[in-house]
Amino acid sequence: MTARIIRGTEISPIIREEIDKETKSLKLQHGITPGLVTIIVGQNPASVSYVTAKQKAAKDLGFYSLQEDVPEEVTEEALLELIAQYNDDTAIHGILVQLPLPKHINETKVLYAIDPDKDVDGFHPVNVGRLMIGEAKFYPCTPYGIQQMLVRSGVTIDGAEVVVVGRSNIVGKPIAMMLIQKAEGANATVTICHTGTKDLAAHTRKADILIVAAGKPKAITADMVKEGAVVIDVGVNRIGMTPEGKAKLCGDVDFDAIKEKASAITPVPGGVGPMTITMLMLNTLRAAQFTVGKR
Ligand code: NAP
Repeated sequence: MTARIIRGTEISPIIREEIDKETKSLKLQHGITPGLVTIIVGQNPASVSYVTAKQKAAKDLGFYSLQEDVPEEVTEEALLELIAQYNDDTAIHGILVQLPLPKHINETKVLYAIDPDKDVDGFHPVNVGRLMIGEAKFYPCTPYGIQQMLVRSGVTIDGAEVVVVGRSNIVGKPIAMMLIQKAEGANATVTICHTGTKDLAAHTRKADILIVAAGKPKAITADMVKEGAVVIDVGVNRIGMTPEGKAKLCGDVDFDAIKEKASAITPVPGGVGPMTITMLMLNTLRAAQFTVGKR
């Protein structure tokens, strides 16, 4: 079997078109333009490139978008004040603080300071709790992107055995929590694996849908995958440079071998990656819509 390739590069533009339509209608009917502020502390090159891409996406969709470039040596107090200012700003519907933050700033304290109704990353404990009880307002962007890729590719999630490798708060735990809900695009039986899992392959081989977010190249090899499984590779690992001087990337699964066994698989790059920013835009639109009690 040669797997169908599920590409975020193909699904993401479709969702952006939908966002564009809804954004225009929100402006026309309610005079509201979705507003997003991205806050970056210091000039970490990876963070700068992520924030630049987020700003570009927001501008392309006609959002009101602002970027706050905060110096590396900012005090925690000053950063919290800046967040409080945007919490009160009615033109801003989404606040995104780019992580990681410098060591002298308490990341948890900063994320908790964001108004949960403007928490478009979905990391605030109020939103994590809402997700857990099946009343999510915002889904974290990468897990949301994964779920949309599955749904829009016609993969049956209802009743499927899903195995998630990785238990981070930004990918592993939230995607497991989303797919376990008694809801459309969910209702799966979910197992979460991590470095404490005794026999990883024994679990992954049972998966109808295998989602890998370990951050380890080739953590999953073909012998660990069931014939006909759907494999979602979230990993982004830098494994050198291309001759053009760009970072050479690979995922967490042995793509070439597994594509001969799986029924569908996501590539890296071009798989989950392009979905994340699109889902951030959707969350920002939703945050703006919530202000008129519309969804
Ligand atoms: P993380 O916080 O480092 O978590 C990795 C998780 O994988 C941990 O729970 C770890 O277990 C588990 N793990 C690592 N090696 C393992 C192994 N050999 N067997 C079983 N479990 C293993 O990473 P993350 O933030 O979730 O990100 C994971 C990957 O996804 C990274 O490559 C990251 O760059 C990528 N990512 C991509 C996007 C995107 O938009 N495409 C977004 C976010 C993340 P322990 O808990 O026991 O340590």
